[in-house]
Amino acid sequence: PYDMLVVGGGPAGAAAAVYSARKGIRTGVVAERFGGQVADTMAIENFISMKATDGPKLVAGLEQHVLDYDVDVMKMQKAVRLEKKEFIEIELENGAILKSKSIVLATGARWREMNVPGEQTYRNKGVAYCPHCDGPIFKGKKTAVIGGGNSGIEAAIDLAGIVEHVTVFEFADTLRADDVLVKKANSLSNVTIIKNAMTTEVLGDGQKVTGLKYTDRTTDETHTVDVAGIFVQIGLVPNSEFLKDTLELTNRGEIIIDSHGRTSVEGVYAAGDVTNIPFKQIIISMGAGATAALGAFDYLIRH
Ligand code: FAD
Repeated sequence: PYDMLVVGGGPAGAAAAVYSARKGIRTGVVAERFGGQVADTMAIENFISMKATDGPKLVAGLEQHVLDYDVDVMKMQKAVRLEKKEFIEIELENGAILKSKSIVLATGARWREMNVPGEQTYRNKGVAYCPHCDGPIFKGKKTAVIGGGNSGIEAAIDLAGIVEHVTVFEFADTLRADDVLVKKANSLSNVTIIKNAMTTEVLGDGQKVTGLKYTDRTTDETHTVDVAGIFVQIGLVPNSEFLKDTLELTNRGEIIIDSHGRTSVEGVYAAGDVTNIPFKQIIISMGAGATAALGAFDYLIRH
């Protein structure tokens, strides 16, 4: 068996693998797609100590760093089941079973998409999912936020301090966000909130976003709004479906961890966007991956 098996090859998984391997213990990494969400990212300007980098460069760096050590990297392999027997077992989609004394789950998350024409074409060209990451790109420009839940209204308040104007589009006739956030957003002169709005298309000039189309659900009329950026804030879905019956998850499917990265199953640790940590960022996931690996190592030396 492995001493530590890491499931996931994003920033959290890569950090966990490096920390594990540096302890001289038998380490494996199984990842569906090495790099995770970073592979889908263009400009990265908040990875401290690197003023600017991009997704592909950071992914190459993650992989090189892991491969510098004696780590079994199993790419393009999906975990479908976790079970604790004598060892902890991870079953892969191809039927293979990997055994390990400890596990770090770092399977990340995915942003829920609008699934409207233009969204894919203009992803990273105006369509964005992370205000902490891409807010400054739209400095002085008009932007839209899709979704009136807590993350949408938080995004609108955050962006209002950077961009010229923010319009929030909410599908329902009420906002799901906390009252205190809604009050704050309503108090800002450069935030407009439109309810009963169904976004139907992302518009662009072939290079970048120029606007969006939405239908007013009360009148059925279609409107066009000029914006340079569209932040989609309709949910971040943790990749934890395969763990539903084995680990304690939040009602949103996030793996519940403590300060050592421990989950509800002994010997199983977790890190990064798949967990219930409040903020989902590259630098935070890396720190969480290191924490989980050290937590798991602490467990191993006691068992
Ligand atoms: P992920 O990066 O999601 O990696 C998950 C890993 O697990 C992947 O290797 C995946 O293939 C694997 N996996 C999933 N399920 C399974 C399974 N069942 N079996 C095996 N492997 C599995 N953050 C910033 O700090 N700055 C930015 O500028 C920034 N820009 C972003 C732009 C975009 C478009 C997106 C989508 C995100 C951005 N983020 C940014 C957020 C950042 O990418 C994430 O917070 C970070 O990647 C989370 O790391 P992670 O390792 O927890 O998960």
